Amino acid sequence: MGRIADSLKTVARMIRLTCRAHHQSQAGSDGLCPDCRALLDYANDRLEHCPFGDDKPVCARCPIHCYRPEQREQIRRVMRYAGPRMILVYPLDGMRHLLQLLKNRQKQC
Ligand SMILES: [Zn+2]
Repeated sequence: MGRIADSLKTVARMIRLTCRAHHQSQAGSDGLCPDCRALLDYANDRLEHCPFGDDKPVCARCPIHCYRPEQREQIRRVMRYAGPRMILVYPLDGMRHLLQLLKNRQKQC
């Protein structure tokens, strides 16, 4: 499995985790509220069209770089909430990547 597929899985999990905690009352049949569903679709779309594909230099240029400001803010909120929790829920699943990503974000913002 490539990095894109990996990233997608991670992003989907983080969005689900956040949505379940914050928007449960608005969740549809797929377990996501309309906003988070749209954000996930957007993230999928971005990753699918990532110019780096599976060769991208993992962390420095990770998914959120090419997001529009509105979605970037949304995904940042998701990461802030779900990031630390992902470590507990999926301790071995792309953790290094995720930590690197959060670290890079903090440096730049
Ligand atoms: Zn939601």
